[in-house]
Amino acid sequence: MSAVDADRAAWLDGNALAGVLEELLGAEMTAGPRACHTCGGVHPVGAHRLHRGAGFVLRCPQCGDVALRLAVTGDRRVLQLRGTWTLDVPVP
Ligand SMILES: [Zn+2]
Repeated sequence: MSAVDADRAAWLDGNALAGVLEELLGAEMTAGPRACHTCGGVHPVGAHRLHRGAGFVLRCPQCGDVALRLAVTGDRRVLQLRGTWTLDVPVP
């Protein structure tokens, strides 16, 4: 396995978070854009790189900076978002 393959094996794409983001934020988020506060790149949330460890970290596909942190502690889930996320939902 090359170093590039090993790097790719370490992360999933952001679409893997679709269910939990919809549960927490009440809308499908992965197709929406996120603007990175570090590099200025604008990419769909689903195109970001998801790393799993003690929790989840979503990183900018352009510069690698942190876009989201999700920690699960007992009966709590703690979500931190960075950059500009756009939530676009119809009026009920
Ligand atoms: Zn970036």
